[in-house]
Amino acid sequence: MNGKRMFGTNGVRGVIGEMMTPDLVLKIGAALGSMRKGTIAVGRDTRTSGEALAHALKAGLLMTGCDVVDVGILPTPALQYIIKTNRFAGGAMITASHNPPEYNGVKIVEADGTEMSDDEIIKLEDRFFAGEFNVAPWDGVGAEATAPDRIEEYIQAVVGHFPAGIGKGMTVVVDPGSGPAALTTPIILSRMGCRVHTINARLDGTFPGRMPEPTPEGLQPLSEMVIATGAAFGVAHDGDADRAVFVDTIGRYIEENYEFGLIEDYVCARNGGGLVVTPVATSRLIRDIAERHGCTVDYTPVGSIYVARRMIELMGRGEKVSFGGEGNGGLIYADHQFCRDGGMTAAMMVAVLASHNGRKLSEILDELPAYHLIKEKHHAPDPSALVRAVEEAFSGETIEKIDGIKIVRDNAWALVRASGTEPMIRIMIEAKDQGVANAMYQEIMRVVRQV
Ligand code: MG
Repeated sequence: MNGKRMFGTNGVRGVIGEMMTPDLVLKIGAALGSMRKGTIAVGRDTRTSGEALAHALKAGLLMTGCDVVDVGILPTPALQYIIKTNRFAGGAMITASHNPPEYNGVKIVEADGTEMSDDEIIKLEDRFFAGEFNVAPWDGVGAEATAPDRIEEYIQAVVGHFPAGIGKGMTVVVDPGSGPAALTTPIILSRMGCRVHTINARLDGTFPGRMPEPTPEGLQPLSEMVIATGAAFGVAHDGDADRAVFVDTIGRYIEENYEFGLIEDYVCARNGGGLVVTPVATSRLIRDIAERHGCTVDYTPVGSIYVARRMIELMGRGEKVSFGGEGNGGLIYADHQFCRDGGMTAAMMVAVLASHNGRKLSEILDELPAYHLIKEKHHAPDPSALVRAVEEAFSGETIEKIDGIKIVRDNAWALVRASGTEPMIRIMIEAKDQGVANAMYQEIMRVVRQV
């Protein structure tokens, strides 16, 4: 997909000792150092292999003449904030995000704090595969400094977006999942005035409490703690804390499109109009709520980097952009930074609840329009051919081709996309009515079975 050979939508990832090795990461460091001159910030999540890979990455950067600042263990959005505000030449995060503990990987960050674009990643991969590294002579090798306290700049920036004491009287529970948000989210929320309880808040790359992907099953202990403490909400992060997901007052896992809609409602009401940028796979709920506030939705391909870059592009053209994000708990705040930010999302939920005058999160959620979503994956030897066949079969209808094909009806939509990494197609169907969604799914499956 997009001509990339090794990197996916959010960096390169693999199992330690198999695809992911210090040797591979050293070469990524050397390729990055050959492309970006100056000081590169390096951070990591809590995975057991993080230290080894960080050393390899730094060796590659140093040998090409870059200086390195090692900012230690921190959330990806904290690294992105530090890079942007300290004018580093770029950065790299050793993380495998939500993947299981045996995985690790690298995300590359540009000087403006955004993830590296597809075009630049392709250039980096070309250097990687050709072994084209600008190795510095003995008197040009870079130097390393460590700066573990820089994380405080990020905490202050997030807290600074909200009125002092906005969380007073609110009890919250934070589940960082043994990841780097243990160093940020509890502090952010307590500085906002909340009473904070934590679970899985010790940095531990073996993830003893739950896996790095925050699932309803894994968050059961968080739900129980929310109920036991009478908390306003519980918040959990994925392995690098660019995403945040929530459980409500009565311990229910909040489906991430509803989280998006709830925060969108608050942000758009305050901003009064503007654009909301999101991928084509997001619930129609996002459009419903945008329209309430006179906002318009701008759709992108699936991937947070496309959302972030589109927000920057639209603002560069003088358009007003209110909000952006994905329906997986990865939300982007235009007045903060152009990347998904889990700590900011946790803080935003405090502001959302404060604006509802003491009403319970569960009650507010129950007032949002309900949608029924079907999400399926199907094996397909030639996924693109299958997507074309579906397009052909539904050619009489409204079809959008931003990413795969999206068949748009008044009361439902369906998205059919080829997987970038496996011989699979991904099908999503959404409707307010479950029967309508099921019927549309059967229509698509008839085409899939014929091919
Ligand atoms: Mg992540």
